Amino acid sequence: MSQAARLLAIYRELEAMHAWRGWHWWPDADPFEVIVGSILVQNTAWSNVERALDRLRAADALNPNAMRALDDAKLEELVRPSGQYRQKTKKLRAFLAVADAHGSLENLLALDPATLRRTLLETWGIGEETADCIVVYAARQPAFAIDAYTRRIFSRLGLGPGENASYGAWQQYFVGHIAEDRDTWARYHALIVMHAKHICRKQRPLCGECSLAPGCGWAGTAWAST
Ligand code: SF4
Repeated sequence: MSQAARLLAIYRELEAMHAWRGWHWWPDADPFEVIVGSILVQNTAWSNVERALDRLRAADALNPNAMRALDDAKLEELVRPSGQYRQKTKKLRAFLAVADAHGSLENLLALDPATLRRTLLETWGIGEETADCIVVYAARQPAFAIDAYTRRIFSRLGLGPGENASYGAWQQYFVGHIAEDRDTWARYHALIVMHAKHICRKQRPLCGECSLAPGCGWAGTAWAST
């Protein structure tokens, strides 16, 4: 089976295993909430981000104008549950400044995907994973986001360029084998996250519940089956 066919087959298996689950950015979420969430989730768990988003929502601050009007102390207090709250406040401010420089958030998100990604990467506090999440889930343009979950699952499956390969190498592996389509790329990443959280966990993956097990070298290990 070709790599492309294998990746498509895995996509279908993941969909069959996880279609019933909800995921915060699928099918669609408010673009500004996606952006704020993608910045706040850096170096922390999503559950902490949800607490910060709840506080921002309760303060009616989950839109660019309202957030811009907050002073730093107030914004820091609201995002505190996500950790590194001073840094993350600065990152949110940096993003708002870029949106302002383009006239509005809508104008920024309307840039073509390559220009938007480059603009985001030039923004303080935004790296490749955050930029790609913003492109695909906020701007709803094609981008394949790579994260530690992707590296873990596909390395266990014996696929991809190697767990320690660069972000770009991993991204090229997927975009080189899966035809460009925003919804497919967005959904694939969502399914990877759900699989990593619920079945292919870092410790003691639930291989007995995984329909990818027949083609997974990791599934047969003693440690994996415990
Ligand atoms: S069989 Fe186990 S190690 Fe392989 S992908 Fe499934 S859960 Fe992960």
